[in-house]
Amino acid sequence: MSIEDIKDYVSRNRARHEQELAGWIGVPSVSATGEGMPEAAEHAKGLLAASGLAPRVVETGGWPLVTGHVPGPEGSPHVVVYGHYDVQPTGPLEQWDSPPFEAAIRDGRMYGRGTGDNKGQHFAQLLAVRALLASEQGLPCSVTVLLDGEEEIGSPHLAATLAGMRADLDADVAVWSDGPVHDSYEPTVLLGVRGVVSFEITVRGPDSALHSGNWGNVAANPAWELVWLLSTMRAPDGRILVEGHDTGTTELTTAERAALDALPVAPRELLAGVGLDRMDAYPARPEQSGDAGVNERLALPTFSINSLTCLDGQDHRSVIPSVAIARCDMRLAIGQRAATVADAVRRHVAARLPHAEVTFEAMMEPSRTLPDAPYAQAVLDGVNATADKPALFAPAMGGSLPIAGLTDGLGLPCYGIPLANVDERNHAPNENFELARFHDGIVTAAAVLRSIGGAL
Ligand SMILES: [Zn+2]
Repeated sequence: MSIEDIKDYVSRNRARHEQELAGWIGVPSVSATGEGMPEAAEHAKGLLAASGLAPRVVETGGWPLVTGHVPGPEGSPHVVVYGHYDVQPTGPLEQWDSPPFEAAIRDGRMYGRGTGDNKGQHFAQLLAVRALLASEQGLPCSVTVLLDGEEEIGSPHLAATLAGMRADLDADVAVWSDGPVHDSYEPTVLLGVRGVVSFEITVRGPDSALHSGNWGNVAANPAWELVWLLSTMRAPDGRILVEGHDTGTTELTTAERAALDALPVAPRELLAGVGLDRMDAYPARPEQSGDAGVNERLALPTFSINSLTCLDGQDHRSVIPSVAIARCDMRLAIGQRAATVADAVRRHVAARLPHAEVTFEAMMEPSRTLPDAPYAQAVLDGVNATADKPALFAPAMGGSLPIAGLTDGLGLPCYGIPLANVDERNHAPNENFELARFHDGIVTAAAVLRSIGGAL
């Protein structure tokens, strides 16, 4: 058996696939502002139908979920494919070399908002279904595609919507393609994601900025109060000091630790690539020295300060600012719960600086699939059928996706097969997707479906 037939199909249809992707990029779908969202749901329906799936728009209470289903042979596995059709806002237009909602091809890449995150990647999955349906062997499994319209705003309605669709989603396994491939460009299969809790701490001081000579030592300075508060939340050695944030955290299994150890890691080079010569403080376990355990850092809880801002104090006048704001996030490891983490933060702040206000924004639960879960080997075999070297498992690490609705909500093992280039610039100006990766991604996605269906 081979996947040469799919490769042929993909190479015969290159121009058409690129044109359809460009059309998809041309439909704005900014969930944060609502720009283009109703048109985008319609367009997604059309793409699903054109790929052989029966489309349906499912109301969620927010932006709709667009689904598509195509049955496979009697008794074959049922695969859920998760993606999202909403995109991030464009950010400053002058930083784009071409308009974000007009696909432009330069140097083998398609540029435009959503090329990598996530339209190009879920469209590759749809085209895999289309290619398999057109092949002599046919589609070896049932497929239900779920296109989320709220991923970029934290998918607030997804878990409840999926719970209401449990009868339709009596599936065996889920796959998704999002984010860039591993920095080393080694092929990887992601076993879940970390969760996230984003929040803002605001400390209010005087009604407006005050002269620091006339008021220093007399008027409370909200910036000092804020930095002091933050210093009580994370120790210089990297330990997170927010009591109760790690409730429920479970140890990595031996297989997960082995998978982490097998992932290539070159921290000095990675850091040098972003202009840094030092690593973040981190409470390493005693057996770890040198580079050991760096991958584990990406699988365990984090606490990051995203930005520190003073209102009225930005231009370095000698003042006591009126307001100080820290934007922060915590990435959640296996076993942590977003609501528990949020409570722990709220309690920590209230006990130390009661007049500080904490507001929570995006929250997502972590999701875990074990390296020996059902279909893990089939997914790996499918990726291997198209990769030039053996693929590796990456246990739940890195960024966040709302797939806990699939793993915890529906009880499905869930596998991530990122397709985009490392420098896809998702969420940034000049987002792009290497077209070779887009076309190869269709073949990979088709090979994974054949492998799951036992037809590789
Ligand atoms: Zn995104």
